[in-house]
Amino acid sequence: MKTSYDVLIIGTGIAGLQTALNLPKSLNILIVSKDYAWECNTFYAQGGVAVAVDEADISLHVKDTLEAGTGHCNKEAVEVLCSNGPLAIQRLIDMGFEFDKDEKGKLLYTKEAAHSQNRILHAGGDATGRYIHLFMMEQLFCPILYNTQVTDLLIEDGECYGARVLHADRIFNLYAKKVIIASGGVGSLYEYHTNARTISADMQGICLSHGIALADMEMMQFHPTAFVLGNAVRKQLLSESLRGEGAKVVDEEGKRFVYEYDTRGELAPRDIVSRAIFDYKQKTQKEVYLDLSAFEEAHFKQRFPSIYFNMKNIGYDLPRQRIPISPAFHYAMGGIKTDLEGKIAGVKNLYAVGEAANTGVHGANRLASNSLLEGLVFSYRVAQDILKTIAQEKTLKVFSEKEAILMKEGDKELKNELRNLMWCHAGIMRDKTNLEKAFKRVEEMIELPIGKLLKLRLLVSREIIQSALKRKASLGAHYIKEDVNR
Ligand SMILES: Cc1cc2nc3c(=O)[nH]c(=O)nc-3n(C[C@H](O)[C@H](O)[C@H](O)COP(=O)(O)OP(=O)(O)OC[C@H]3O[C@@H](n4cnc5c(N)ncnc54)[C@H](O)[C@@H]3O)c2cc1C
Repeated sequence: MKTSYDVLIIGTGIAGLQTALNLPKSLNILIVSKDYAWECNTFYAQGGVAVAVDEADISLHVKDTLEAGTGHCNKEAVEVLCSNGPLAIQRLIDMGFEFDKDEKGKLLYTKEAAHSQNRILHAGGDATGRYIHLFMMEQLFCPILYNTQVTDLLIEDGECYGARVLHADRIFNLYAKKVIIASGGVGSLYEYHTNARTISADMQGICLSHGIALADMEMMQFHPTAFVLGNAVRKQLLSESLRGEGAKVVDEEGKRFVYEYDTRGELAPRDIVSRAIFDYKQKTQKEVYLDLSAFEEAHFKQRFPSIYFNMKNIGYDLPRQRIPISPAFHYAMGGIKTDLEGKIAGVKNLYAVGEAANTGVHGANRLASNSLLEGLVFSYRVAQDILKTIAQEKTLKVFSEKEAILMKEGDKELKNELRNLMWCHAGIMRDKTNLEKAFKRVEEMIELPIGKLLKLRLLVSREIIQSALKRKASLGAHYIKEDVNR
């Protein structure tokens, strides 16, 4: 197998695939994917893609994004996102992608929490991510090496030369002039999450091990409504649009208790609804449900086909039956620090894009449906930078293919302990005592004779906890509750 490329892309979500699609066919590109290509968050995205509906809406989209980000966004990144959004969507449409339209052929825009107007495009009803992913896979002209997990980056003297991978029980190096990390967020660090099973913060951990900075790692977003019963690692997300269109959050007696926390009830921003559900469950020990009785069955089935069929497979008759819910980890605003072209400071020829990256665009809280747009807009900028700077010839250094032991006996139990620790102590509601407790235990685990993959998770968990400890006051998704132990 060939092991030397112009461009190596890590990840087959919207950010990785669209970076490849934005590059010319003449380049020698390889994409690697830890599992099947579709086992990524992009594939599971339901609601849609946010985009300014016209010129006048760009400044409103900027305003909504900055407000959701609670004053913590990089304004320049937000302006890039919102002003380049319409062009990025037009490029996708010009390639042949079809968003949902009305009977007259006009694009259908819906609304989600904290958007001041209807600007969410969707496809296949609630299957936007799946439709986009399938479309991009159909357009792709370069190979994907499946079941290939990156275990290290080949970095020397401030320059990246490729990545070390595990594929078919073999460790080997893949060399490239340009390396793009498009490996998504950190879902698997938490006990309850909505993310694909491949999303376990490996690349963030590898970056830390090379001294590459992560930013805003305390900023983790939790989704208020997931079905968390059952053994599936990825918890079924129950889209925000359900509440937007009439679903109610109730307790066992049908009480809409979220109003006790915020006058907007179910339509309050997702972090407020998440905290309300989490807190109410803890205080009352009651089960909490999503009540869909406001929906008429035929409309529900047509508007939310994925949720309808996924829940039907588990045995729920929707919209008749109410669904037991819990908040779950959903999205990482924090990530590998990059500039607005995806470049990573201090390491030449290395980029990060999509959920893995932190440009500051989401600040302390992501505005709903801005992340698919981020993948489209910033992958284009990464590709443009690659085209400007890729060397015709590059002397490739040869690196050893020796790798540390990736997994050891006992890692699985520690991994589960870590997930619980992160969920309970570095999750929706935090306090100093519990964060310190979690920090101490993570430090202990790092010193144990563990495999490298678990170590990478621990490094990122420690970074999240440390960042949370540093930020003493609540901001956006980072919520510090009163510390009863102090
Ligand atoms: C259930 C759900 C619903 C969502 N709904 C929406 C929505 O409606 N609108 C919206 O804007 N956003 C939504 N989001 C968020 C959005 O889907 C993600 O932020 C976005 O898709 C991330 O794209 P990405 O390309 O950066 O990463 P991903 O799509 O997550 O892809 C990451 C890729 O990296 C690979 N990878 C990871 N680690 C390694 C490794 N070590 N080696 C090799 N490969 C690796 C994975 O296998 C995968 O292919 C949703 C997220 C979820 C989970």
